Order: sequence, then structure tokens, then C-alpha cells
Amino acid sequence: MATRVGIALGTNLGNRLTHLRDARDMLRALVDPDSLYLQAPIYQSEPVDCREGSPDFYNTVLEIDYIGKPYELLTKTQGVEFHLGRESVYERNAPRIIDVDILYFGSDVIKDEILTIPHQRLIHRRFVLQPLNDIRPNLILPGDDVSISEHLRHLETDEPPLNLVQGTW
Ligand code: AMP
Repeated sequence: MATRVGIALGTNLGNRLTHLRDARDMLRALVDPDSLYLQAPIYQSEPVDCREGSPDFYNTVLEIDYIGKPYELLTKTQGVEFHLGRESVYERNAPRIIDVDILYFGSDVIKDEILTIPHQRLIHRRFVLQPLNDIRPNLILPGDDVSISEHLRHLETDEPPLNLVQGTW
């Protein structure tokens, strides 16, 4: 049976739009082409906790209908990262070609040394909450009792507002 899965994409190196499109295409190739697919606009965000002079990020969120287990999907999302040229060993929060994070996996709650689902930074980061709010404002994450739009409304962060890059991509 298929599970609704949210995935965040981020990039701040090279041709950022191309990296997002390539990652999106590879993730879509994993799922039934007729299944419901949602894609948020792309936003530009200033780097958070990155070294000075780091380029701005392009961020977005997708939701796919995935058939399989969370750990299998992680292997596939890591495959996308490495295929697009992400270094396997890198400085924490260094500029990266692509970052693919699993935000939520249906109603699953996982917390072990490999996976944390829902993603631990999801509700604290504007660059995740805002695009997710565009496609799933009423979503309530497993173990939570507040919707994504409520989280975004009450978000306390020192992140500046995001700039919309493009809605269709
Ligand atoms: P990052 O540098 O943010 O890409 O982190 C990669 C590491 O985070 C991998 O070793 C994953 O095992 C781990 N991880 C834990 N939870 C998640 C998640 N929900 N999505 C993606 N990676 C995760």
C-alpha cells in the first residue's frame, strides 16, 4: 500500500534550479506516474548555521505516494544525493549540491540512529514549513496536534523571510 511521504530538497551550490529539477525527476521516477504528486514553489533562503559567505539556498518540498519502507526510501534518497554529486564526507553545514530529507512518512514515527521521522528540524525551520504549508497546510504530523499552518504562524525563528524564486518549475 502506498504512503504519503513528504521530502525536503535544498541546494546552495552550482546551478541550484537544475539540481532541484534533477532530484525531483529522480524521486518521481520512484513512484507510479499516475499517483498524486504535490510540489511546492521554490524559495530562496539565507543559510542557517553555515559558515560566513555561504551561498543562499534554494529550498522546496515534494509529496509523493511511496510504496515501500522508510529505510528503503532513505537508501534511495541518499542515492539521489550521491548521483547528483554530493560528497560523502563533508564539513557539517558546508555548501552542498543537494540535500534530500524525508520529512514525514505517513503516520510512521521512527527515532533510531539511522532515521528520525518526522524530521526533527521540520517544525523549527521556515525554509521547510513555508513550502510545506503551500501544499499541505492542514497536515497534522503523527504525534502532534497542531497543523503545519499553525506551526508556521507561530514560528519563532531569527530566519529572515524567504524570497519566492518560482512557483512552477
Ligand atoms: P544530512 O546531512 O542532513 O543529509 O543528514 C544525513 C544523515 O541524517 C543520514 O545519515 C541519515 O541517516 C540521517 N537522517 C536521520 N533522519 C533523517 C531523515 N528523516 N531524512 C534524511 N536523513 C535522515
